[in-house]
Amino acid sequence: MSEIPAELLALWFFAIGLCVGSFLNVCIARIPEQRSVVFPPSACPACGSRIRWYDNIPLVSYLVLGGRCRLCHTWISPVYPLVELLGGSIFLAQFLHAGLSIELARGSILLTCLVVLFFIDLRHMILPDLITYPACFAGLAFAAAGLAPITVLDSLSGALGGAATLLIILGGYYLVRRRLGMGLGDVKMMLSIGAFLGLKGTYLALVAASLTGGVFSVGLLLLGKKFDYAIPFGTFLAFGAAFSYFAGSGPLDWYLSLLQF
Ligand SMILES: [Zn+2]
Repeated sequence: MSEIPAELLALWFFAIGLCVGSFLNVCIARIPEQRSVVFPPSACPACGSRIRWYDNIPLVSYLVLGGRCRLCHTWISPVYPLVELLGGSIFLAQFLHAGLSIELARGSILLTCLVVLFFIDLRHMILPDLITYPACFAGLAFAAAGLAPITVLDSLSGALGGAATLLIILGGYYLVRRRLGMGLGDVKMMLSIGAFLGLKGTYLALVAASLTGGVFSVGLLLLGKKFDYAIPFGTFLAFGAAFSYFAGSGPLDWYLSLLQF
């Protein structure tokens, strides 16, 4: 077999990622409404007309059509091309990060699930079981099959440790504020993140999510918005988990080394 240049492979994975991103858009739009992600084919949300294949080319069609529907000329949300671009970036980053390996697939599964959870939680404040449970199972399965950089014990402790920590925070918050700061969806999401990242990675994800969520909340406060606005914690958790995945345990090791004398 002749060698395929790495640049060509990188481009190839970016293109595959764009197409996956296109499918993620369908998941983000339909899963919260409990509609099938396979049927019917994509339609314009404004006029309901079928989107033809040549108007459904990731990123390219959005640019060619100037961000409008071909028939009714209604503006199409820039989130669509953004998610496509995210899909492309994930596959490209994974190829550069992990090369042609099982980790390319494992990481891409985690990161694409995170993109879907990020946007669904942001829009609807829910984290569907349809994503979190299979993702948790996939994370455990990779580890159990010896196809992950973490052991199955670490995968299990990440899932259970992360979920238990969030449950404790949830309970504590309820005792103080008499209302729930997050939902059980966040706990289930933590299960799936933990299964992929292991215990250390899970805690790094949790810290990163809490810090960014905290900064966002302070920002809201400074902007004078009423603090009763519920923060979509799953959105921050998705960001934290992606950060943790790429950063590895480095930042946490560094922090723990500061605590040792
Ligand atoms: Zn239309």
